Amino acid sequence: MITPQANYAVFGNPIKQSKSPAIHQAFAQQLEESLSYRAVRVEHEQFEEKVRGFFQHGGLGLNITVPFKERAFALADSASAAAQRAGASNCLVPQREGGLHAANTDGVGMVRDMVANLGWQLQGRRTLIIGAGGAVRGIVHPLLSERLGSLTIVNRTADRAAELAHRFSSTELTLAAGGLEAAAGGVFDLVINATSASLANEMPDLADIQLAPKCCCYDLVYAAEPTAFMRWSAAQAAWAIADGLGMLVEQAAESYYLWRGQRPGTEAVISGLRHGLMAG
Ligand code: NDP
Repeated sequence: MITPQANYAVFGNPIKQSKSPAIHQAFAQQLEESLSYRAVRVEHEQFEEKVRGFFQHGGLGLNITVPFKERAFALADSASAAAQRAGASNCLVPQREGGLHAANTDGVGMVRDMVANLGWQLQGRRTLIIGAGGAVRGIVHPLLSERLGSLTIVNRTADRAAELAHRFSSTELTLAAGGLEAAAGGVFDLVINATSASLANEMPDLADIQLAPKCCCYDLVYAAEPTAFMRWSAAQAAWAIADGLGMLVEQAAESYYLWRGQRPGTEAVISGLRHGLMAG
């Protein structure tokens, strides 16, 4: 008898550049498991139908990327706290009793990269997030769980930052928000660039801020060369600087764990991808 291979995929549009198939194959190899994981470009009007079809035909787990994370959350039957706060899901898990569970592993992935891989301490940190797009929705809830000192969200379009601050308003921490100029004069221990400006090799037009002595700077974007934000961080004498490659692998590892109950090691996968990036 031929056993059908466990079937996973990532749905997005565009999807060509996705590293998820390679990451999940590396996890499976490491854990001596066999699975298939495909990157699928889904037409905008077909998203819900394709998701349902995938699970009806035996799919065991889906990652969801831009621009479908909010629609993935909306179609699920239940959701994790992180997905609920974000109103978005990058990971759908079929439930034994039927129905789909929406998780959001982006933020957990970023926090794990910062804390476990990079050894950064987050507690008490005065934190600045630049950007207010889909990625920020995913990272705020797990960051708040780390008991930050303060959180400021600034964005080119100020209203979007204000909307996120309202969405994540908490009793424990006051969230400040505004346009890029709203950070002016602030002192920060952790600065996260969650804009897509680095993709165009640009630094957001941020007001003058001060980096505290042990300030850590993290760019969600990853690239072969240091991004414009990472170069800016170095010029400001940041204590530690990292890009988002570790986050990418950690969010995948969390998805793998939710689907298969086994947590893959990430170190070798991150360094393999890093070598691949540098080799072009
Ligand atoms: P969105 O398109 O939802 O949001 C883009 C954000 O970038 C907005 O806040 C936008 O501001 C801002 N922005 C774009 N260009 C500029 C600029 N030149 N100057 C200032 N701000 C700018 O994207 P996502 O939130 O989904 O993703 C953001 C980045 O994070 C992407 O580059 C993505 O690749 C990366 N990412 C990495 C992950 C990882 O695992 N490492 C996971 C998820 C995302 P405005 O609102 O004014 O348009």
